[in-house]
Amino acid sequence: TAHTPEFHIHHVLETLEQRGSNEREFLQAAHEVLDTLTPVLAEHPEYLEAGVLERLVEPERQIIFRVPWIDDDDRVRVNRGFRVQFNSALGPFKGGLRFHPSVTLSVVKFLGFEQIFKNALTQQRIGGGKGGSDFDPRGKSDREVMRFCQSFMTELVNHIGEDIDVPAGDIGVGGREIGYLFGQYRRLTGRHEAGVLTGKGTGWGGAQVRTEATGYGVVYFLDEMLRRADDGIEGRRAIVSGSGNVATYAIEKVHQLGGTAVTASDSSGYVVDESGIDLELLKQIKEVERGRISDYADRKPGAHFVDGGSVWDVAGEVALPCATQNELDADGARALISNGVRAVAEGANMPTTPEAVSLLQEAGVLFGPGKAANAGGVATSALEMSQNASRERWDFATSESRLHDIMRDVHDAAYAASERYGRPGDYVLGANSAAFVTVAQAMVAQGV
Ligand code: GLU
Repeated sequence: TAHTPEFHIHHVLETLEQRGSNEREFLQAAHEVLDTLTPVLAEHPEYLEAGVLERLVEPERQIIFRVPWIDDDDRVRVNRGFRVQFNSALGPFKGGLRFHPSVTLSVVKFLGFEQIFKNALTQQRIGGGKGGSDFDPRGKSDREVMRFCQSFMTELVNHIGEDIDVPAGDIGVGGREIGYLFGQYRRLTGRHEAGVLTGKGTGWGGAQVRTEATGYGVVYFLDEMLRRADDGIEGRRAIVSGSGNVATYAIEKVHQLGGTAVTASDSSGYVVDESGIDLELLKQIKEVERGRISDYADRKPGAHFVDGGSVWDVAGEVALPCATQNELDADGARALISNGVRAVAEGANMPTTPEAVSLLQEAGVLFGPGKAANAGGVATSALEMSQNASRERWDFATSESRLHDIMRDVHDAAYAASERYGRPGDYVLGANSAAFVTVAQAMVAQGV
């Protein structure tokens, strides 16, 4: 056809909006990717002819299910469960499960769509998927979480498998939840199929460094961006949001590379600790006690807690949004820019709003989008799958060096694509184009 790539992209997005205009997060993610693909599609008209865009934005399969469970007061509770199997051209569906009250089909679709491209960038031959529930683990007893996970798996078991779909953690799903989910899978199937879930305990099939991988990887990516432009992370002051798994290990790696991370946050507010966040204390509060970030300031002399407010008001040379989607908006971006921020790398998925991304890029701030910068988590999940398949166990140092290599490769691929498509250093364009070409080639080769 004589249609230009712009026309084609516009048409696909318009159709998507007509089909699900209430899927706000998913539409945002689809725009974020498709809006950058014009130069790639101009080079590869065969992708358009093969209907790759139309096929990409429609999940291969979506499962929505009832999750009934019994709470500690013996009451019946019901949540909604989701698994969106978005694209398996490169390998089995792969992506985490999120347990949080904000989870809707739109949120799972946005995460699953992002996951296709992120997973492609890792070059580990994994497809894209995501799942979760609107279940809120906060304030639930350990037994309640266990019963919920067992009920969730009672349906999910029908849809997953080591060569089919391999879930892992995300917000609200950590080692404890993966353990309960895996136990139920094993009971229901009678198989100790280690490769069906990743993020397992290291004593029963889990990979070294999986817990740390997302946070470590973000900082490796940030360091690569900085080094390519001038100097690395050493000696720099970092502003980090969040206090979960990603934020915790991002802070740890900033410190290991000689920088200082001075903030952490949760939904109640943020803490500033000029001497650098004390990781033992942070882990004790968030991982062991499952408490609030304000407890940190109560227990650490010199640190202070800010109730509400925006962590982006704190001055720093680099910023790592590691909490959740759309947490860094235009006001946050303006505050960071006016304080002279040099680089931003996304630890969370889509934490920066489209307006904020534009502001940062226009101000010349290096910007590492999540699908590249936070790919270390899922990449290490793929290393876990490969160890499960071969029954090998790699030590911490080997695993960490594999992660480091992968993050370097992800950075270099994104940078090279940004050059090829005309905007060197635009990592949004670079990550989207490099990932898209990988997925599109496989889809074209495998036919309609
Ligand atoms: N939830 C993580 C992500 O957003 C990791 C998924 C996985 O390990 O499968 O990429």
